[in-house]
Amino acid sequence: MIEQLIPLDQARRHEASDHNMLSTSFNEPGGDKVVRTNGSGTRMATERASSQAARPALKVSVKRLERIGRNLLLAIGEDPNREGLKMTPNRFARWWKEFIDYDPGTIETTFAFESFRTDQMVVCAGVSVFSLCEHHLLPFKCEISMAYIATEHVLGLSKFARIAQKYSHRLQVQERLVHQIADEITAITDARDVAVLARGEHLCMQMRGIKSDGLMSTSVMRGLFRSTDAREEFLTLALGKKNGK
Ligand SMILES: [Zn+2]
Repeated sequence: MIEQLIPLDQARRHEASDHNMLSTSFNEPGGDKVVRTNGSGTRMATERASSQAARPALKVSVKRLERIGRNLLLAIGEDPNREGLKMTPNRFARWWKEFIDYDPGTIETTFAFESFRTDQMVVCAGVSVFSLCEHHLLPFKCEISMAYIATEHVLGLSKFARIAQKYSHRLQVQERLVHQIADEITAITDARDVAVLARGEHLCMQMRGIKSDGLMSTSVMRGLFRSTDAREEFLTLALGKKNGK
């Protein structure tokens, strides 16, 4: 994961506030991430008082899940009392609790942003998360890249990953995941220009159905990222390709 501050040379245009979602499938190995230096006059100052990010309420009943785990074993013709399975309902229950009652920690830490340049693209590429497909309850693994054009507030560097994890630790579809991450970045930073790209490998596609490998890509492009230049700059960084290739 690499965070970057990148001067954005293009003039602000295409101010549309709506977003755009692309859904395509392709096979493309994750390449090396492009690193650029920040040569701008950026200064990050006083940490903004982080709002009281409420801890998520615990949702999972371990006792109920243990019963379900035991019933699941019975339903597939297993003996829940045999040696290897004795603790399985409990492990099953604790795994669900760990996944759903995940606490991403404090997310809403931002820094006041002072800069001689107002349009700087901040990109965090290649955050790896696991989520669960809500149609099949099977895992999917996503590599998520996020970007915004900084205005008044800059997101703390670890917060991108926390946001990505927060929305991954629930029953999900990849299309919704990118929107929820974009919404949260907007809510915290007040940025109008936000982009999120997720590339996921879905076990429900690989283990069942057509049993095909493939990366599913979903993206959200808002504000300036709807323009070709900003979008291409973001995708170049997110996909780890060098410019012009
Ligand atoms: Zn699925």
